[in-house]
Amino acid sequence: MIPLSVPVIKGNEKKYVDEAISNGWVSASGSYVTRFEHEMADYLKVEKITAVQSGTAALHLSLLLSGVKPGQEVIVPALTFIAAVNPVKYLGAEPVFMDCDDSLNMDCGKLEDFLNKECTKTTLGLRNNKSKRIITAIVAVHIFGNMADMETLVRLADEYGLKLIEDATEALGTRYTDGIYEGKFAGTMGDFGAYSFNGNKIITTGGGGMVTAKKAADVKKCAYLAAQAKDDALLYIHNHIGYNYRMTNVQAALGVGQLECLEDYIRIKIQNYNYYREALHTFQDAVLMPFNERARNNHWFYSLLLKNKTLKRDSFIRQLKEAGIETRPIWKLNHTQAMYQSCQTYYIEKAPFYQNRIVNLPCSVNLTESDMDFVIDALMKS
Ligand SMILES: *Cc1c(COP(=O)(O)O)cnc(C)c1O
Repeated sequence: MIPLSVPVIKGNEKKYVDEAISNGWVSASGSYVTRFEHEMADYLKVEKITAVQSGTAALHLSLLLSGVKPGQEVIVPALTFIAAVNPVKYLGAEPVFMDCDDSLNMDCGKLEDFLNKECTKTTLGLRNNKSKRIITAIVAVHIFGNMADMETLVRLADEYGLKLIEDATEALGTRYTDGIYEGKFAGTMGDFGAYSFNGNKIITTGGGGMVTAKKAADVKKCAYLAAQAKDDALLYIHNHIGYNYRMTNVQAALGVGQLECLEDYIRIKIQNYNYYREALHTFQDAVLMPFNERARNNHWFYSLLLKNKTLKRDSFIRQLKEAGIETRPIWKLNHTQAMYQSCQTYYIEKAPFYQNRIVNLPCSVNLTESDMDFVIDALMKS
């Protein structure tokens, strides 16, 4: 079976993990946590970043420190993994679902229309005319590692007084190569940026995440809240409700090793994407979705768009499975999930189209050319 995506751990990871274990620092403090944070901050060219237990935890803390309160609202994508939405509810707030555009990222045209036509600026903040609730933040996801339109998102967030949280959990290493943000990495342009090292992401610590922020003080607050909000460790004094969201030293040791491989993995992901794309050039029924041309994208996942309407997604996936190839559809749309069916949506039109017609192809960094030839051959025969 050619799997969709598997982690590849073949560098110094084992050596670092052994070291963390043999010197007894296995838990939530130890030199690898600090080292991983420093190396990530250097890589992303940010002043400060803090390691946490998951990307979801990073998003939760970002929303909390954005000041999202119960009964307020947060604008989120209809098309993305559910973890970008659930933390809104952890805080007792309500999501408002926005459509995607042809990049699969949030449709900034629709977002602007919504903010402009459906909301009113008040002294308390931006009010949603329909629900009468205050909108506090936007969660923008860089889908499959494809750079979202940060120039527009930052402009709109500024103009309407909203906090901008970048969900860069799929986009570690994606950076602009053009424009006002040239050289800037996904996750480092908004008020907060969340990263994930879950098993399926471009690099992994088994499970884990990081959170950065425009203000270094916010990153410090994240670290504080992630460690049970300890004000005096000896006397057990806690002046806030904290969380157990710290990354362990063993996870961080794995992460330090994986981070050394990241640029190599991105290079391979791009090379393999180009290999597929070239080979599928003459294929009439489907095409690989492009990435943002103004960025060096990490090419985490490859999306095959089924153009031929007679190709049915689920039977296509089943047929490939029978041939020994694992593919899968993209996410069931968030506003159609049981918990979110009564939430507000704004002209969601493209998300259902893409949701029905996209299949993710095998994209592990250990794919061989003959693996890809096998996949391409099976696709052409379907
Ligand atoms: C993976 C992912 C998350 C959650 O990250 P975890 O580390 O698994 O908690 C959040 N948002 C998106 C878009 C993701 O793909």
